Amino acid sequence: MKKLQAPRGTLDVLPPDARRRLRIVEIAGDVLGRAGYEPIETPVFEDTELFVRGVGESTDIVQKEMFTFEDKAGRSLTLRPEATAGVCRAYIEHGMHKLPQPVKVWTAGPFFRHEAPQAGRYRQFTQIDAEALGSDDPTLDAELILLLAEIFERAGTGPSRLRLSSLGTPATRADYIDELRTYLRTREAELSGEVRERLEQNPLRAFDADHAGTQAVMAEAPRLTDRLSSEDAEHFAEVRALLDAAGMPYELDPTLVRGLDYYTRTVFEFESERLGAQAALGGGGRYDGLIEELGGPPTPGVGWAAGVERMLLAAGDESPARAPTVFISYAAPDTGRDRFLLARELRGAGYRVEMEQAGRSLKGQLKQADRVGAFATVIFGDSIEVKDMETGDQREAADLEEALGMVRDVTPS
Ligand code: AMP
Repeated sequence: MKKLQAPRGTLDVLPPDARRRLRIVEIAGDVLGRAGYEPIETPVFEDTELFVRGVGESTDIVQKEMFTFEDKAGRSLTLRPEATAGVCRAYIEHGMHKLPQPVKVWTAGPFFRHEAPQAGRYRQFTQIDAEALGSDDPTLDAELILLLAEIFERAGTGPSRLRLSSLGTPATRADYIDELRTYLRTREAELSGEVRERLEQNPLRAFDADHAGTQAVMAEAPRLTDRLSSEDAEHFAEVRALLDAAGMPYELDPTLVRGLDYYTRTVFEFESERLGAQAALGGGGRYDGLIEELGGPPTPGVGWAAGVERMLLAAGDESPARAPTVFISYAAPDTGRDRFLLARELRGAGYRVEMEQAGRSLKGQLKQADRVGAFATVIFGDSIEVKDMETGDQREAADLEEALGMVRDVTPS
């Protein structure tokens, strides 16, 4: 029979990786929770129109990467390629603008993009996402950046570089794009074929080019950050001042182009030196026009998304330590109920407890105790004995209660 496999670009996450991933999400929940971000969950699929309007018709995501299907009534649905549009839809649908602002939320889960799979790039991947809706206060931009840096730090993803820029308003950006296009036309002969082809549609892409001639042209190109309105420039200056005050290093990068249309003002991206071509660990920015674009009241917003698979790749495969474990083994098979009860009691006392459940020899059981990293093994034979796995000392207990006390005595602090 043909062997069945997971679809291309998807991952099975087996233990211990699944535990490490869960741990990262727990870290994010802890860090964000302390800053007032509450968990939110939105559906994994939405009306296709949400992403067409929210992410932007001209983006790669909408043009090439969405998993879109029809339901039985002929409605077009799409597996979510990103989180912000869904969170904004929920904000509007549930009248969350009536709540005290800003509304701060975070979520984590699967996202889907039909991209060419490679290391760090999958068709189903996991993002942690945080959003603050209903205020354009620059402390939110800075707070979100610092919280993401703290999550990376605690997840052990290693050194990363923060690129930061401001895109201004859509009007500023439209004027700037015209200016850039005009400039590029004056030096068209020096540009790569690909950039020339895209000149009409998206001249910003020229900043991403590898082509040496194009790079030389771009080095002298006008910069969007020099064209910001005074309000936007002030907002950006305040975000930078807050990051400076917090000692958060960043690189101003006026060439930062993000793949979603909805950004205004602040944009940022963290890149890891430990990742290859897919270096982006996470990024985001402000989207002050998005909620209105989706049919809600004018509402500013700012947020980010970080890729859990990439965070794990960057962190390497050092597993977070398991909780102290007790292993329960036996030489006398007829002690099953006592073993079962002791396991229950030890778990109730907060221990992680594994017991022999595969019929191994006593020697095999002790090997298994080592494998699971047990600090103590309780052996049920003619008597009950507690073995300190660190020192090898073994003591006899009169009953279950004394055994529990002995486990306590050898518990690592
Ligand atoms: P984006 O919304 O494109 O800025 O994505 C935010 C983060 O999600 C990126 O920085 C990556 O860490 C992660 N990410 C995006 N696309 C993929 C993908 N196809 N596979 C794995 N991770 C991804």
